[in-house]
Amino acid sequence: MSFVVRTLFILSLSFVGLYSAANPFPTEEDANNWFKQYTQSLTDSQTYQLLKQFPKGGDLHHHLSGSAYGKWWYELATNQALNGGYQYFTKINHSECDSAPLFHTISNTTHSKLTKCEQKQYKALNALSNKEQEAFIHSVELDKPEEGREEFFEFHWQRLSELTQNPYITAQVLLRNMQLYQQENVRYLETQMNVRLMNRADGSRFPPAEALKVITDMLDSEAAKATGVTVRFQYALVRFTDNIEAQLDWIFKFVDANRKWYVGINLVGREDDPRGQPTRFLAPITKLRAQYPAIRLSFHAGESEHADTNIRDTLLLGAERIGHGINLLKDPSTYLLMRHNRYLIETNLISNLKLEYIDDLSAHPFPQLLRTGVPTALSTDDRGMWDATLTDEYYLAFTQFNISWSELVTLSQNSIKYSFLQDEKKEQLLTELNRDLTQFLALIAESANQIPSANSKVQPLNSNVERYSDFICEFAASVCANEGNNKETTRK
Ligand SMILES: [Zn+2]
Repeated sequence: MSFVVRTLFILSLSFVGLYSAANPFPTEEDANNWFKQYTQSLTDSQTYQLLKQFPKGGDLHHHLSGSAYGKWWYELATNQALNGGYQYFTKINHSECDSAPLFHTISNTTHSKLTKCEQKQYKALNALSNKEQEAFIHSVELDKPEEGREEFFEFHWQRLSELTQNPYITAQVLLRNMQLYQQENVRYLETQMNVRLMNRADGSRFPPAEALKVITDMLDSEAAKATGVTVRFQYALVRFTDNIEAQLDWIFKFVDANRKWYVGINLVGREDDPRGQPTRFLAPITKLRAQYPAIRLSFHAGESEHADTNIRDTLLLGAERIGHGINLLKDPSTYLLMRHNRYLIETNLISNLKLEYIDDLSAHPFPQLLRTGVPTALSTDDRGMWDATLTDEYYLAFTQFNISWSELVTLSQNSIKYSFLQDEKKEQLLTELNRDLTQFLALIAESANQIPSANSKVQPLNSNVERYSDFICEFAASVCANEGNNKETTRK
């Protein structure tokens, strides 16, 4: 197969939705054998493009405020037309008068209340020099070799600070996510998004229902609908904070009142803090379950390199999905319980690497889970902070673990099947996904045989599609060394 032909049908994949065809392979084994042979003929860059266009279902483990790239934060924070008219200051000097990290970002109302000494350390975000802008952008991405878990948990969120309390910025971050997912052929996003501590530009509190409306109005906009991506929310509780009973009371009530948009609750934050043990939540959740019709739970658990019983204890709370589950194999009885059962592990390969819960991918339990009947799906966690994408997650899985066509299909289907989306809508998305998967396979099979369909159209992908994340270019430079004329390898 010539390079030109291969390139043409990889380009044509973005129009897979226009093409209809039956599955060209009589058996699953035939499809797997053909797909393996076919992908072996592709360059790394072509494999990446193939996976980018592969119908990926949904992203079930996604923190909205961790999904924005540094550049997005900068653009939105300095654009008053997009951010609701807010102004921000960021800390650019080390200070003797406070202990906030560099690039701690605050609103102008908070800034006006600082002491003179403190104010001197901050600069208006829209007055930063080019060099300072670059430094700001990198300060919220985990992109330096010395950065790891501490930097992420202790500084990144503290820096973003009030930027995450602006509902207009939140709405724009969500829209950009949807546009990116459209390009990655993703149909569904279930993202963790909180609205209780949102602020108005004058510093006063935004009532949560009004803040939610700012965001759902965006979801009802033409730009959002044009992406074809369905969005639902989970409300997240930081596991080691005070007053968890009162917080859970509030969250259950709010989720119950907004079931159209909120489909579940999550428990987040580092598990090495003893205040966040799952058993601490058993009594309050049991009490709330007596008060509200079922609310679904997907909790972080087993995000640790050490053995513990957190996954089992989290299932006891009634969770149906487990975020990460990296140490599941170190708890054999829970692992056996989860095989061929109804609980899904949300796998986040890049997050686990970046936060150093595994030294390298060969130590990750993902292939054991996938191949011994523990339901799992790939997701992105805080992908803005790793400068990565869902395609990157698929690329890692595909290239490191020799994933078959059937396994790719299973991962994609799981990310809809195990979602908390309302049943009718889930049924619809699954039907559409299965149709897309069949069409995708038919299209690449047909193209590989060099018989272009009359219905398939070949057009160059737009420049956004050709952009690569910094993560993938570092992980596999060959992906970004594209033979084509789209040489842009970074969004910076
Ligand atoms: Zn997470």
